[in-house]
Order: sequence, then structure tokens, then C-alpha cells
Amino acid sequence: MSGRHRLLPLSALLLIASTAAAQIGPAVRPFVIEDAPTVVLRHVRVIDGTGAPVRDNQTVIIANGRIAAVGDDAIVTAPTGAKVHDLAGATIIPGLVDLHGHQYFLSSAGLTQMAVSAPRLYLGLGVTTIRTAGGQLPYDELNTKRDIDRGLAAGPRMHISGPYLDGARSGPGHNRRLESPEEARRVVAYWASEGATWLKFQGNISRAILGAAIEEAHRHGLGVTGHLCSVSFREAAALGIDNLEHGFITNSDYLPNRTPDRCSPDNMRYQVQVDVEGPAVDSTIRELLARNVTLTSTLSVYELFVPGRARVPEAALEALAPAARAAAIADLEETNAGKAFAVPPALFEKMKRFEKKWVDAGGRLAAGVDPWGNGSLPGYGDHRNFELLVEAGFSPVEAVRIMSANGARLLRELDDYGTVTVGKRADLVVLDGNPAAVPGDIRKVRWVFKDGIGYDSAKLVGSVKGMVGIQ
Ligand SMILES: [Zn+2]
Repeated sequence: MSGRHRLLPLSALLLIASTAAAQIGPAVRPFVIEDAPTVVLRHVRVIDGTGAPVRDNQTVIIANGRIAAVGDDAIVTAPTGAKVHDLAGATIIPGLVDLHGHQYFLSSAGLTQMAVSAPRLYLGLGVTTIRTAGGQLPYDELNTKRDIDRGLAAGPRMHISGPYLDGARSGPGHNRRLESPEEARRVVAYWASEGATWLKFQGNISRAILGAAIEEAHRHGLGVTGHLCSVSFREAAALGIDNLEHGFITNSDYLPNRTPDRCSPDNMRYQVQVDVEGPAVDSTIRELLARNVTLTSTLSVYELFVPGRARVPEAALEALAPAARAAAIADLEETNAGKAFAVPPALFEKMKRFEKKWVDAGGRLAAGVDPWGNGSLPGYGDHRNFELLVEAGFSPVEAVRIMSANGARLLRELDDYGTVTVGKRADLVVLDGNPAAVPGDIRKVRWVFKDGIGYDSAKLVGSVKGMVGIQ
């Protein structure tokens, strides 16, 4: 194949055209701007998510939900009867895959589900697939997933991780407290039967319980991730964990005099002293590489805890309900004044450096937003992640791959979506601008295609203005 010319033969196109189109129910229809069976997007710049260089003057053809052609404008011709859009100046990237999505919103104004607002913000801002990394009301999330899959609600494709799983020392709240390996196996099997495809562990788990849970999860074909501290990265990797959340800041490998299976409140305070360029960090990286663990970058949510850096764009604040908005603004002011829980600026720099080192060493990095009450919001935080990955030293092309293909690969669905590649589901984001030249252009989402159906970003986002923190 000539590298600049990717086309399926007509017979393959017709085969694709015979697959059933996605359903569009009455609650979804108002957000749809394009659902023609064959759609041609002309004169676009393509960042395909594979790590290949940016390609200008491209034509992308969508046929019945899948990508039927990607190639030079001069070569790819529109099939008869196709709907053609001239998108000169626009850029197409793959739909983003967010590995640390949540559908709940916990702020100092209270805990609410974003059952309406989160799915529309994710989809409207270009995130076509999420994995929940723990849930407070997992049945709400399973129901949302079913509604989206049936065309009854607009939102991203969802992987559900069920409730947070935690150890015997877990405090009050919605976490499922696990007191023995046997209990862990039973709970894992139950959530597998309920439709979870991932499990998320929190910081107070023991190695024995986590190990049993991982074994049981893998037996059922589920993946396991964790925001850990009682178990270090190296210990979790040795137990077979698939994914670790948040990166450097949560790794307890370097804590001196650590009590096994216990969280230390000193962990984060100590972490700022660790030399990211030193042999201890290098050896963790080698061990995680050998165990094929994927790391999830969540830089944007941590940035909101860094004094002097805690800012949220006005557009994100407008998505918040009045009480949640007031709480978020107060939290950000406290952080910037150094009064609240804070991530030291030096530690934030180490987090970015660690992620770059990890990828340079051959490690797989994906990303997620981790919505939080101080203004970390679905979609908006993903856009900020892109800018922060570029700030960390990744090229925009690499940052797109981290935020799309790498997530899809961990979800074992990269053959199906995650790059702008012929034959895959047409999950595409149309940006008015060029994020390869101006990273902030990642925010200029015009349309989002999921399974070949085009959604109007402004309508989706506008429909939930002022709703985060209520519904
Ligand atoms: Zn989280």
C-alpha cells in the first residue's frame, strides 16, 4: 500500500454498508447533525492516532458507521449519492478513549451522579469511549451504558468498572470493603456477571486480596486497575495488575520503612523528594515494562491541586450548577493560596517527567480525566490532558495516540476503533483548527462522529449547561 492512499475495494465497502446502522432514538436525534449512510469529509488534516505524521489535504469516507477510505484529496473520489462536507482548515483525530472517566461528581457541595451531563459532555467534547475507574452508583452507570448502546441516550461507548473495591481498612462510603481473598473472588465474579469489564481497586487493599481478585478477574476476562498506596507499583505488577492510575504520585515503591499492605499518609509528602532520574525509578520502570502494565495519565486533575496552576476555563465552569460552581471556585482559590491539600509544583514536574521517561523506555501510557469537584470535568479535563502531555514533552501526534489508540489497546478493542484507519468504527473528532501547531485547538470541537453518526458538539454541551452537580 502506498502509504498515502488507503482505500477498500468496492466489494468491501458494500460489505461494510450491509452492517446495521446504529439506532438513533428521539432523545438522541436533536444532537445529530449527520447520519447519512455514506459521508465524505474533504480537505481535512488527519492525525490518525497511530503515531504517523500529520497528513494534510485528506479525504475521509464513512460508510455505514465505519471508515471506508482515508487518502489524498486528489485520489479519493466521493461515491455517487454520498453526503459531502468540505472541511478546509479542520483537523480529524480519532475519538478519544478516556480510561479514567467517572459518572459521579464529588465536590464540597455534595455527591451527585452526572447521569445526564457526563455522557453528553464526554461525547460532545470528543470522548467517544470511556472506562469508569470506579463508581459510587455503578447501576446508574450500567443503565446509562445500556441506554447509550440502544440509542436512547447520547453518550460515549462505556466500559463499566463497578463499585470501588477496597480493603478491610476502607473508611465509610460506597466502596465495597473486602476482608478476605474468598470474599474478593465472590465479589469479582458477581460484577463480571453484572456486566462490568474492569475492576478498580483503591488504596487500602492488601496484596493477598488484590492478588486473589486479579486472578479471579482474569478468569472472567476482566481487566484490573488501581489507585493504590498500600500495594506498591512493583508489588501490583508482580500480582498481574493490568493498569495503574495516576502515575508517579501514587507509587509507594520509594517510601522508606514502609509497612507492607498499609497506606502511609507520608507517601505524597515523601514522593516530592524522589529523584525521577535515579536508579530506583529506573528499576520500577523496568519491572512494569517486563509485566506489560499500562499507566493512566491524569495530569489535568492533579494540576488543579497545584498552587499557582489551579485554573478552569470559563466554558467548564459554565457546565456547573450554581452551588457546585461556587464550591469549585472556592476550592481553586484555596489551592492557589496554598491553604488546601496541595500537590507541590516540584512534584507535578516530576509526574510529567516520569510519564515521558516511561514512554521513552517503551512503556504504554493512556490517559483519563478523573472528574472532581474543583472543576475537573468530563471532556474539558481531557482537553487539558492533551495540552499537559505536550507540555511534558510529547509531540501532539504522540499525545493523540496516548489519548486514543493506547486506551483502545488496553480495552482490547484497538482492532475496532481508536485510530483513523480503514475498516474501523468511524469514531472521529472534527476540530476547527490544528492541534499539531496550536495544542489549544484541541478545544475547538465542531462535530464528533461515533459509529459514523455525527453529533453537534455545541448542542450536546449546550444542553447540559449548569447541570453538573445536579444531574
Ligand atoms: Zn478517579
